[in-house]
Amino acid sequence: NKHTSSNFIRNIVIEDLKSGKYDKIITRFPPEPNGYLHIGHAKSIVLNFELADEFNGKTHLRFDDTNPLKEDTEYVEAIKEDVKWLGYEWDQLYFASDYFEEMYNRAVLLIKKGKAYVDDSTPEQIREMRGTLTEPGKESPYRNRSIEENLDLFERMRAGEFKDGEKVLRAKIDMASPNINMRDPVLYRIYHAPHHNTGDKWCIYPMYDFAHPLEDAIEGVTHSICTMEFEDHRPLYDWVIQECEMENKPKQIEFARLNLTNTVMSKRKLKQLVDEKFADGWDDPRMPTISGLRRRGYTPEAIRAFCREIGVAKSNSTVDVQMLEHFVREDLKLKAPRTMAVLRPLKVIITNYPEGQIEWLDAENNPENPEMGTRKIPFSREIYIEKDDFMENPPSKYFRLFPGNEVRLKHAYFIKCHDFIKDENGEIVEIHCTYDPETKSGTGFTGRKVKGTLHWVEATHAVPAEFRLYEPFILDQEDDDESKTFLDYVNPNSLEILQGFIEPNMTNAKIHDKFQFFRHGYFNVDPKYTTPEKLVFNRIVSLKSSFKL
Ligand code: ATP
Ligand code: MG
Ligand code: MG
Repeated sequence: NKHTSSNFIRNIVIEDLKSGKYDKIITRFPPEPNGYLHIGHAKSIVLNFELADEFNGKTHLRFDDTNPLKEDTEYVEAIKEDVKWLGYEWDQLYFASDYFEEMYNRAVLLIKKGKAYVDDSTPEQIREMRGTLTEPGKESPYRNRSIEENLDLFERMRAGEFKDGEKVLRAKIDMASPNINMRDPVLYRIYHAPHHNTGDKWCIYPMYDFAHPLEDAIEGVTHSICTMEFEDHRPLYDWVIQECEMENKPKQIEFARLNLTNTVMSKRKLKQLVDEKFADGWDDPRMPTISGLRRRGYTPEAIRAFCREIGVAKSNSTVDVQMLEHFVREDLKLKAPRTMAVLRPLKVIITNYPEGQIEWLDAENNPENPEMGTRKIPFSREIYIEKDDFMENPPSKYFRLFPGNEVRLKHAYFIKCHDFIKDENGEIVEIHCTYDPETKSGTGFTGRKVKGTLHWVEATHAVPAEFRLYEPFILDQEDDDESKTFLDYVNPNSLEILQGFIEPNMTNAKIHDKFQFFRHGYFNVDPKYTTPEKLVFNRIVSLKSSFKL
């Protein structure tokens, strides 16, 4: 099912189309270009694009770039790439900053109507005068300036006559309103700072609460979907549309933002992880950014399916990150070829196998998807297995290799251990086994059974590769020590780098190719560290999970 299943926003849209309130719907995805998109944004992208698509409407990608201090074209480009990669095409691309002139004119209209005034109070004074939930606000001494004086001062604000923070433009609404957002909110502030799009043209910039409704109205957006924290701002949203005499009347609808366990989900915090070098860039595979998930090996299909499944509601909740992992396993199950990789190699000599002989065995590429065919893998006297697939003194129920025990080598033969060699430090460095030619895989051998099946890679053809295994970036916060910040919960052991071997037929793998390594999970060829000489793999997810949908 392509579309988000029924939800309260979809019902509003259906109702609005039926009643004729709107004859066609337009939604928008409005990121501020102050960081890279994360999985929370994906929820909003899927909702906005698929809702419009379902009702033959349109979706705009609009950069909400009204704060020059935090925004950058690097982020603009990254956001465009991520939206496209997720599989969506915007009908129009807009920049809020392209509307600065129009916004300015609407502010002038407010002043002319006696609905806005220039205030010389400091930001602290304005904050104090705003009051609290239990106390009404106080009117500013500048509240009753004449329209002429306000027009003159606002024009001079624009002309650059005042310094940052010296003056602001405020809406004149109601300092006694029970809704603090309605107590003469600031509409414009002064920043003498260059803007990524408008350069030095402006030194006054509109506040979100003034800019956003105008942006929506200018573009003819019908349903302006945002997260719950803006619910209390809706009366101001409607006030701006009304008092600025906008022709189009968009409707703001709030839904709960996505939170994930073991995940920070705010561009500000993610930027801190990057700036303070906890992360290897915005696309670090441990990051919940779209670019991080992509580098990790997540597919757009998996992310979209996850976003559809979590649904849209009004109450905030935290989704288990295992649900996201579930969807990438589901997506890759039939797509990813299954091969063998040894991550922590231990040499095995098969002492009764002829020296110098190589045989090529048939191996299925995906038993759940026979269309993926078979491949040939080499076998010889020397192979690698995983270090932890051998134990000198195993506990009971250990069915892998130990002295005297027999196991199956996947796609090959049964082998039985008769000896092992330790180095001077007592570490096991080589295992000696015999094999039984009768037990060759595919021959239907039923003479006896073994309990363990090991993966392996033939030693003379083995190709060295690097494997990167990940644990949650952010640990569970089990204490409630208020002096700690999220940075205190960054997992110091979230990345493990291993040097091992892959099958020779994988040397042609390209970046972003995905594989299931037998027993280890799904892996993606890393686009950043892979070189022509060496493949680097990111583990996307392990194979098993206790998670049930
Ligand atoms: P952040 O705090 O992470 O920067 P934001 O809301 O400030 O988030 P914007 O760039 O303004 O980021 O977001 C663009 C759109 O994405 C908005 O419509 C916003 O509501 C939505 N969005 C952001 N985070 C989430 C989330 N966690 N879940 C759902 N939607 C989100
Ligand atoms: Mg925002
Ligand atoms: Mg933000």
